Amino acid sequence: MAFVRHPSLGLSTRLLLSRATGTPSVTLVSLRHLSTSRRTLQAQPTHSTRDSPTHAKSPRLETGVYSARDEPGKYVNPYEGGPSALEKAAHLFFFTEIVRGMWLVLEQFFRPPYTIMYPFEKGPLSPRFRGEHALRRYPSGEERCIACKLCEAICPAQAITIESEARLDGSRRTTKYDIDMTKCIYCGFCQEACPVDAIVETQNQEFSTETREELLYNKEKLLAIGDRAEAEIAANLHADHVYR
Ligand code: SF4
Ligand code: SF4
Repeated sequence: MAFVRHPSLGLSTRLLLSRATGTPSVTLVSLRHLSTSRRTLQAQPTHSTRDSPTHAKSPRLETGVYSARDEPGKYVNPYEGGPSALEKAAHLFFFTEIVRGMWLVLEQFFRPPYTIMYPFEKGPLSPRFRGEHALRRYPSGEERCIACKLCEAICPAQAITIESEARLDGSRRTTKYDIDMTKCIYCGFCQEACPVDAIVETQNQEFSTETREELLYNKEKLLAIGDRAEAEIAANLHADHVYR
């Protein structure tokens, strides 16, 4: 592509000529350059435009680039729809933009802050928030997990490891229930898969540790978290039950 000066449109108006290749060429004038001149545009009879067989409307009209060849002789007013010269002079004289900007600053100054003083203040959490895991018990104290291993099977991160055995009364319970929290991606699949709501994700998100080993949760730890957060877990499951 190449830029050339248009003799009838002044120094600031330039025509963009297309490549001098075998393809049909188009003469383009950018709207930005049109705004510097109020003259009537004429198509420039260049070698490339004479060679072009087509006179169809350019699809570039819709994209904001005006083609002089599409509508030769048409006057384009680049200021149409904008503020008048009087309005612009008034804005300039009375510094209205500065006053409006200062008013905006004043408004923001007296508005309550968006930020909160974490960790002393905390934002609201959804009942479906997926945080630290916990294993739940029945009110009798019996653990809910029946060692079906659905959570282990569905876990995409393979973070859950379960071993189980049958009790003397014929029920089956886990002997080992480990979650590697460093692998967990908090997808919530284990909670969704559990038929007895045994494994759940609490709203606790503040369980960072100094060592990796502390994030390898075993059954005792998971049950202890469940005992501690049972009221919160039950309330959240109740709030969410219409969606389950
Ligand atoms: S939340 Fe997802 S990744 Fe984490 S233990 Fe459950 S199923 Fe696995
Ligand atoms: S936590 Fe739920 S899904 Fe996982 S083994 Fe126990 S009963 Fe099955």
